[in-house]
Amino acid sequence: MSFVLAIDQGTTSSRAIILDEKLNVRGVGQKEFTQIFPKPGWVEHDPAEIWYTVEYSIRTALENAGLDGSQIDAIGITNQRETTVAWESDTHKALYNAIVWQCGRTTDICAGLKHREPLFRQKTGLVVDPYFSGTKMLWMLENVPKVKAAAEHGTLRFGTIDCFLLYRLTDGSVHATDVSNASRTLLMNINTVAWDGELCDILRVPMGALPRIVSSSEVYGHTRGMESLPDGIPISGIAGDQQAALFGQAGFEDGQAKCTYGTGSFLLMNTGKHAVPSNTGLLTTIAWKLGGEVTYALEGSSFIAGAAVQWLRDGLEFFHSAPQVEALAASVPDSGGVVMVPALVGLGAPHWRPDARGLICGISRGTTRAHIARAVLEGIAMQQYEIIKAMETDSGISLKQLRVDGGASANNLLMQMQADFLDRTIVRPKMIETTALGAAFLAGLAVGVWKDLDELRQTWRVDREFEPKITAEEREGYVQRWKDAVSRA
Ligand code: ADP
Repeated sequence: MSFVLAIDQGTTSSRAIILDEKLNVRGVGQKEFTQIFPKPGWVEHDPAEIWYTVEYSIRTALENAGLDGSQIDAIGITNQRETTVAWESDTHKALYNAIVWQCGRTTDICAGLKHREPLFRQKTGLVVDPYFSGTKMLWMLENVPKVKAAAEHGTLRFGTIDCFLLYRLTDGSVHATDVSNASRTLLMNINTVAWDGELCDILRVPMGALPRIVSSSEVYGHTRGMESLPDGIPISGIAGDQQAALFGQAGFEDGQAKCTYGTGSFLLMNTGKHAVPSNTGLLTTIAWKLGGEVTYALEGSSFIAGAAVQWLRDGLEFFHSAPQVEALAASVPDSGGVVMVPALVGLGAPHWRPDARGLICGISRGTTRAHIARAVLEGIAMQQYEIIKAMETDSGISLKQLRVDGGASANNLLMQMQADFLDRTIVRPKMIETTALGAAFLAGLAVGVWKDLDELRQTWRVDREFEPKITAEEREGYVQRWKDAVSRA
């Protein structure tokens, strides 16, 4: 029996999951770490604490699995994307806290670069936003004397979290990042799949501080000097969390898409060998590189999905636990004309209106908590409807089905609404830990635990499918009511 360890380094916790070759979960370990908020809108993580929680999670997962570290055949990494670390090659020590993807400290830098947006968009597929890594690096170079000094001495190493973990796993012998993570930095040209000199100049990032860009599935190096694992285990798969989820959903063909319904929601559509530029406010990104072949994706995210259910729970005190929303919403046949736009922190793709705020409209004397709960679920599904429509417009591809995962995908009513609004089949897999699964797939493929994509397709299993049940007129009614409400949000 072969065993693959997936390290899932997320925004609030690190996890380690051990899978066997039949995709049974053998052991899990998890540890939360500190969120550091030095100023309003700033978010940091301590890289040493991240590393400690990774080692801790691996130890726990091994204990739970009853396995010895030497039995692990391969390690895959998936990670919170865009979060950026600077460290020194001599000492391996971080020179500053990791600047997290959510951190808004580079808002002014981005405003100053707005005139360059067409260039960044064309080369990187991204928009100039504090979300991405490049301006975080520029900020460190300008504001952290130790980072500046290391840059002058040639000992500076920059990396996203995948790269930082790979460096630590190999005791500093490998400084590399996979294409999916590199495509979130604003520094890599997604057409040439190489760091772009012009963009590095604009952001004043010395190319020597950047990692080597590698594929998503190959042996990058071997463990060395770790507490939780013996030396010599290959690290052989890396992808950013959303790309790993698409891979874990076996979304290998162009036109396949997945949506992860967590706090927010993330939709990724595989567009195959083509980097599809977006005219509708989506991002063009790299899904993965296997062998020599790059697969591209379109991405659209909503800041709020399951978080709207949390708001019903905590803000309005409608129920005690999030899953109870389903029974409450199902206790009425429709929302009684109520529409809810969950723009609690602004609207993301395809509207990009940071100033928009949530809205509940169509309230009458007969409106109850149940109608509002139902309208919230409809609002979550409608946001995905709009993103999918934008993806279909950009790519010219008509979606066949949507694969789903994440905490809120357990909600059958929400999934039925999604099928109804999209007029597409919604497919929920048995294994909804798709992020870890994707990292494990990538790592296992490189060392022969699984032979090829076909074998992975066969190991992936459906839990339940949801078929559209409403008429075209009913669908049109939902869409019109939603559009009216969004225009007022
Ligand atoms: P994250 O990884 O972003 O923390 P998870 O994938 O763990 O998110 O999902 C948690 C989110 O899903 C929470 O916002 C919660 O409100 C929501 N959620 C969990 N279960 C349900 C459910 N049955 N119906 C609707 N929302 C749910």
